[in-house]
Amino acid sequence: MKECILMIGANGQIGSELAAALRLKFGTPAVITSDIRAPKELAEGELFETLNVLDKESIKALLIKYKPTQIYLLAAMLSATGEQYPQKAWDLNMNGLLNVLDLAVELGIKKIFWPSSIAVFGPHSPKVNTSQYCIMDPNSIYGISKLAGERLCEYYHNKYGLDIRSIRYPGIISWRTEPGGGTTDYAIHIFFEAIRSGKYTSFLAEGTELPMLYMDDAVRGTIELMDAPEDNLTIRSSYNLAGISFTPKQIAEEIKKILPNFEVSYADNDPRQAIADSWPKSIDDTQAREDWGWKPTYDLTEMTKDMLDNLKIKLQ
Ligand code: NAD
Repeated sequence: MKECILMIGANGQIGSELAAALRLKFGTPAVITSDIRAPKELAEGELFETLNVLDKESIKALLIKYKPTQIYLLAAMLSATGEQYPQKAWDLNMNGLLNVLDLAVELGIKKIFWPSSIAVFGPHSPKVNTSQYCIMDPNSIYGISKLAGERLCEYYHNKYGLDIRSIRYPGIISWRTEPGGGTTDYAIHIFFEAIRSGKYTSFLAEGTELPMLYMDDAVRGTIELMDAPEDNLTIRSSYNLAGISFTPKQIAEEIKKILPNFEVSYADNDPRQAIADSWPKSIDDTQAREDWGWKPTYDLTEMTKDMLDNLKIKLQ
């Protein structure tokens, strides 16, 4: 079957790179991007529609117009911004997902990608090598909405046969698009500031270890999951996925190997610290490896070199 993809929330950190990869794979006209805000630029032939995911009738109109075979729903309010606007975060993250799931059932669109997050874990979840199934007591509105979203995805799969696929992304590191208000944003800002000013104040404490993933691996993993044979998939809530775990201190040391004059300091009392402290340090992704062959390729050293090489060109 010829694939046609509608991506919602496509102008953000992940969508902009995932859409580019999907256009390479399926051809430019096969990927329709949409977002509540217009993109900075569109290359020739790229299709874009302005869309608010909370406006169900407008989504329906686009689904009828393009008849996509797959929907990627990336619109969400992330963890740090969500703490400033909890009601709006809940509304966007839950009702956006429900709108898409209900319309997918109504219009017979089976294949959907929706990302969850390591924010589904909480203070009583094991911190090291956190397993797929364990105590999950998220205490950020973002994490609560993602855990509820996971349950909805599994429910719609079981009840209506939707082929929903999902990954619990760790913090995603990338240089092309700046991050959208998450707790792991420091790990991107630190590279931008290393090039721009040679110094950076991390909003997380130096020893805060969190799971992260380089964008190239995230995009490849997402497409590999979407390509996997349906029968191989044993998880319809969301797959644990691991890349690299590191602390602000470790990333700063890695940057200093390339930029020896780089200076780092650490802020006190940032509200994002409490969210970070409730999240795992590392993730057990056995199920993703077994079910669809997941394997990350970047380690901290390779990622640091690639980030700095690309940002030197981008920011010059
Ligand atoms: P982002 O904030 O960079 O992008 C989200 C996009 O959604 C933005 O372009 C925004 O304009 C759009 N949007 C907001 N409200 C909308 C609405 N009402 N209708 C349509 N579009 C709307 O986020 P991202 O980092 O690209 O994250 C994408 C997905 O991945 C989200 O579900 C997020 O929770 C998840 N995720 C991201 C990370 C990460 O590190 N970036 C980690 C875990 C999970």
